[in-house]
Amino acid sequence: MFDENPNAAYGHSHRGKREEGRRSSNITVVPSFRLPPSGLSNMPANRIEVTTDESKAMFTVDVEEWFHILDSPAAPPIEKWNSLQSRVESRLEMILGMLDECSIKATFFWLGWLAQQHKSMVLRCREAGHEIASHSYAHVLAYDVGRERFFQDIDRAKKLLEDITGDEIAGFRAPGFGITGRTAWAFDVIKEVGYQYDSSIFPSKRGHGGIPGAPLGSYLIETQAGLLPEIPMSMVEILGRRINLFGGGYLRISPQWLIRWGVKNLRASGQPLVIYVHPREIDPNHPRLPLSPLRRFKSYVNLKSTMPKLQWLGKSQSFCLMRDFVFADGKDLSKTLPIRKSTFCYRDAA
Ligand SMILES: [Zn+2]
Repeated sequence: MFDENPNAAYGHSHRGKREEGRRSSNITVVPSFRLPPSGLSNMPANRIEVTTDESKAMFTVDVEEWFHILDSPAAPPIEKWNSLQSRVESRLEMILGMLDECSIKATFFWLGWLAQQHKSMVLRCREAGHEIASHSYAHVLAYDVGRERFFQDIDRAKKLLEDITGDEIAGFRAPGFGITGRTAWAFDVIKEVGYQYDSSIFPSKRGHGGIPGAPLGSYLIETQAGLLPEIPMSMVEILGRRINLFGGGYLRISPQWLIRWGVKNLRASGQPLVIYVHPREIDPNHPRLPLSPLRRFKSYVNLKSTMPKLQWLGKSQSFCLMRDFVFADGKDLSKTLPIRKSTFCYRDAA
């Protein structure tokens, strides 16, 4: 609902990569459960002791620019991205400062295209002890580009981020949480490419994504290539509807008392808290795209409230990396979470 990007964005200039993707799609099937890569396990340990799964919170950042708005004719195509003002670094500095102040280790889902332009910033996030994960290369929607191009795009992003960091990239989040009931194959692809967990499911109605009937809390999705740990967005029920209060426009629009109630409610339901934010959401003065009135409201409402809310939430919760949530030593959830067939997708598509 609140995420973003160009329609026609990706395509024509990546034929070489397409070939590469086709080749590897035949052979790259990753074993179900691998421990975190050794390069990553050398990172400083999270300072916060977490005792139960319900007590865990995860702070996540979808790293992209102010113009990465999805599903709008006003959003610029990828060919124009290089000519637009970049504002991401100053905002990331602010986020890194806030995380440091609150002693939080976070998971950064980098857009591959952006990581390519800001390699030193990727490394700065990594060196500060945060996790680098993937948000696709060109901010593509699975249902727009189809299986083959989705494979090529997210495979390209993984390899590129691995080249930059020297680490294996474990986590993936689809742009706009854009996996819907009609694209359950996307989970097969995410697993085939070699990601070790996914955080793409928004288990409620949403503008360009969302699977309203998907299970809440974490689980393993049964894909054609093996089991894929899923950490969906956190939901609370208000008047019979699943609502998210902890990221994007939902976080910006909700008053603090409602978010506080939401966290308590979430804990009672046994779901971990997942917070998500985009750098542009702490940038009240970023340039505006000529969006429709509704999209303008969703994208730009209450931008000034984001950082104070994040600081407050950051100080009130205990956080861990998403990768550690799934694979932490001694409590490897990838072996104990309940298994769900991806038929919850088909049910929603009907
Ligand atoms: Zn995004």
